[in-house]
Amino acid sequence: SSKLLEGKRGLIMGLANDKSIAWGIARACADHGAELAFSYQGEQLKKRVVPLAEQVGSSLVLECDVSDEGSVDRLFAGIEAEWDKLDFIVHAIGFSDKNELRGRYVDTSRDNFMMTMDISVYSFTAVVRRAEKLMTEGGSCLTLTYYGAEQVMPHYNVMGIAKAALEASVKYLAEDLGKKDIRVNAISAGPIKTLAASGIGDFRYILKWNELNSPLRRNVTQDEVGKSAVYLLSDLGSGVTGENLHVDAGYHIVGMKAVDAPDI
Ligand code: NAD
Repeated sequence: SSKLLEGKRGLIMGLANDKSIAWGIARACADHGAELAFSYQGEQLKKRVVPLAEQVGSSLVLECDVSDEGSVDRLFAGIEAEWDKLDFIVHAIGFSDKNELRGRYVDTSRDNFMMTMDISVYSFTAVVRRAEKLMTEGGSCLTLTYYGAEQVMPHYNVMGIAKAALEASVKYLAEDLGKKDIRVNAISAGPIKTLAASGIGDFRYILKWNELNSPLRRNVTQDEVGKSAVYLLSDLGSGVTGENLHVDAGYHIVGMKAVDAPDI
């Protein structure tokens, strides 16, 4: 099989465990010959991330809390110390207080609004700016978003506002960096059971609803997000920037959601 990322070096941010979307992407990239580095948030996750990184042949595993500028600087200093250039980054990071991922959006607190925007939106810009310096031969930057940015989804609340801002960031970043042949894209993934998703109220109901109403009549997997990520991160996507690619079994195109979810 052809190796689409042979000779490419990429940083994967947002790996928490083997259910993470970042893991599906990392495996697909490794299958395509990429050399990978990983960042993890805090010592707690280190013991999970190091063995996963080993499984895909990576020993470059660095700490990074994206809410801390110094921490982001240290991550990129660590990458620069090992690698002379960087070809791609994957930002699979989002966070909000789970007490506000239920009930009404209007009740969102100022503190949680700011924190959600900081970690889930600004961090992508902060990371892309540092990656730009290492992407001396062009590059590809990818983030993860959700349909709750475009349409109102139950319980998604402040995260929907954050993802809308993230999707707008993708476009502005794509314009800024296009002259250097650095592409910036998002994947809008359908609902997938992960640690972050478990914080969203009634997530099982959302999964079932998507399964019953999407054109493919099923949910997508981490591996499917991974395959589409390879397209955007590799030369296959060389003409694509500022894009939001829906990997959601087609759910976003359906106007009339006809099939009612059973009681679950
Ligand atoms: P996950 O819990 O596996 O990953 C979320 C990651 O964010 C974790 O690794 C966590 O450590 C990291 N993170 C949170 N705060 C951080 C901080 N301050 N500094 C550094 N890292 C931090 O869940 P996931 O579902 O794989 O989430 C990955 C991305 O995919 C998120 O942006 C999420 O919004 C997005 N997404 C998820 C779904 C879904 O249904 N699971 C759908 C569409 C988009």
